[in-house]
Amino acid sequence: MAVKALSYIGVNSDKFDDWSIYSQNYLGMQKIDRGKDILSFRMDDQKQRLTITGEKGDGLGFLGWEVENKEDLEIFAVKLEKNKIVVHQGKSSFSDKRFVEDLIYFDDPQGNRIELIYNPMIDTDPFKPGRPISGFKTGALGMGHAVVHVKKIDDLIPFYTDIMGFKISDYSHTPISLCFFHVNGRHHSLALFGSGRTGFHHFMVEYNNLDDVGQGYDLLQYKDNGSLLTEKIIDNLYNKDNISNINVSIDGATKKTFEGIRIRSDFDKVINNTSKLILKIKTKNKKKRPIFTALSLIQKDNVHEAEQIMYLCKKMGFDELCYQVQLTGWGKKEWEDNNLKKDINYNNSNKKLFEEIVQKAKKIDFPVKVIEENLLSKQNQCGYPWNTPYINTEGKVTPCCMIPDPNVLSLGSIEKTNFNKIWNSKTYQDFRNDIKSHQLREYCKNCYRSRN
Ligand code: SF4
Repeated sequence: MAVKALSYIGVNSDKFDDWSIYSQNYLGMQKIDRGKDILSFRMDDQKQRLTITGEKGDGLGFLGWEVENKEDLEIFAVKLEKNKIVVHQGKSSFSDKRFVEDLIYFDDPQGNRIELIYNPMIDTDPFKPGRPISGFKTGALGMGHAVVHVKKIDDLIPFYTDIMGFKISDYSHTPISLCFFHVNGRHHSLALFGSGRTGFHHFMVEYNNLDDVGQGYDLLQYKDNGSLLTEKIIDNLYNKDNISNINVSIDGATKKTFEGIRIRSDFDKVINNTSKLILKIKTKNKKKRPIFTALSLIQKDNVHEAEQIMYLCKKMGFDELCYQVQLTGWGKKEWEDNNLKKDINYNNSNKKLFEEIVQKAKKIDFPVKVIEENLLSKQNQCGYPWNTPYINTEGKVTPCCMIPDPNVLSLGSIEKTNFNKIWNSKTYQDFRNDIKSHQLREYCKNCYRSRN
């Protein structure tokens, strides 16, 4: 009789949109359609690993622990009841909800809901990650680990060791009491954090490949430019006379679509801050410049909102809107592969949609362009390294916004070096010369029609 792995975790939250974006786009889990009242994700061939219960709060919903044999459930139930723990038998409808063959459930001495389950169901469809990752390390090691806050560790250790049969891997007493437990080869599948309060501290999932961790971290660093517009920056831009053009990407007309595409952005902030900036610069001083251009990168996820985007941009006060209807890889092979799936394959049928939008825009006096071809060629070379440097939120400079990731190419950091020095540096000049002589770096080839 033994618990062999952490099978699944339930988190209490009703913020389905936030969890949906976080779990799929950052962690790379696969969202499963289970109706509107619950959110579930897969991490491997198991039908369900992470569940967002729909209950308000941000605490632990439940921890599901897998046992070796079906009879173990009964043996555990007897042992728990002998220790005055009230045990509930899971009905078949409940087992179906958890996608397991059988289960019992009860609370640990601090009230954390524990479910002991037998035989989690396996899906026949292959796992489809929410972002390109090599997969999660699960199998015999289970889903990962969970850490819970506890008032007093000593009140729970006997429960987890003597009754549940967990083994202690490690512990510490100062500055804070911590106790780590293992049930298989993973160093710990559960840890108690003696913070003096109750609640869920964190859960951990593991990837097969370290690069997947790094890429997830990079995604989490990203903030959309419109989200970062503060009153100070708005004033600063307002007082500058030499800005000719301000471009803002508007890739969705609704929060769900926009934030699904512009990961970690805040739709409301982008719309409000940009509208405020346009209003301040345009109406108060009647300035002709800068020209405000909305850029909308059309893909399968937002093409249904293309017309709404046009009306939104007009309402926000933009001078013009440019739809870009072709996706490239922007310097990364895996993005290229991913973007191929999202590209709308601009053709006669969707071309008609954009022609109609341009006509509707004319009626409200709003200039709209459709950039049908954004791939460069030997004759039509890239001009970005001469006029459009990109500076990320950490101050790292790359030659263009197509390479926002300084791990692909970093030309320096304005935190350490004066921008003029970076702009005129040998590294920057060499990069420009490579573009001029058509000696394209690998990450630039995606922007060109022919990769040679
Ligand atoms: S060709 Fe290179 S520098 Fe130009 S936009 Fe593409 S990635 Fe950036």
